[in-house]
Amino acid sequence: MPTKPKKPNHGTATAPRRARLMPPAQAEAFIRALAVANPAPETELIYHDPFTLLVAVVLSAQTTDAAVNKCTPALFAAAPTPERMAALGAEGIGPYIRTIGLWQGKARNVAALARDLVEKHGGQVPGDREALEALPGVGRKTANVVLNVAFGQETMAVDTHIFRLGNRCGLAPGKTPREVEEKLVKRCPPELLRDAHHWLILHGRYVCKARAPECWRCVARAYCNYNDKVLAPPVK
Ligand code: SF4
Repeated sequence: MPTKPKKPNHGTATAPRRARLMPPAQAEAFIRALAVANPAPETELIYHDPFTLLVAVVLSAQTTDAAVNKCTPALFAAAPTPERMAALGAEGIGPYIRTIGLWQGKARNVAALARDLVEKHGGQVPGDREALEALPGVGRKTANVVLNVAFGQETMAVDTHIFRLGNRCGLAPGKTPREVEEKLVKRCPPELLRDAHHWLILHGRYVCKARAPECWRCVARAYCNYNDKVLAPPVK
């Protein structure tokens, strides 16, 4: 009996497959290919200003943007400012976000960060990393998203999609999100750095997917170093 060919293992979220590092010119060509395909990329989270962006990003940890977008319109209508969010408190925030993962801890963090914004920052979201990372529930990745999207800074927030993609295609292989972030910042052409964060997240989310990359429709395939490219859609 002929044996079925083994399916390639495309890796896991914490241990993605790692390809050899692309030379700088190839890395630039890879990013430029994504740029041409999507000239004006944007975050998929619903937000109105730096405060609602910060809350949406805190809520999005370990859940999808789509799940966050289902509950934030009602939450932001009830509490559009740090003052109103602090007044709502964790108990008042909880019922709005019960459908997303880790909602109890997130409700506590959002109430506490709103209080900190009121008490320490005059009700404004600070535009510097140190102050952002001192807020409850805000780590380096969240700070990077807020600095990039709300303050126009050239930061690279490495989430699970960018971590996987950076390793899998050889753009920025690294053992930790911080290592991948530092390589990407170094390798990305400066004028593309701000938008590269969006291009890479969207590419990882919709094309270079966790379970199996959809290489047959990848606009950057010619520059990718991954050895187990999937060159045709699965037969149904
Ligand atoms: S060719 Fe495949 S593995 Fe490489 S970046 Fe594109 S989707 Fe990912």
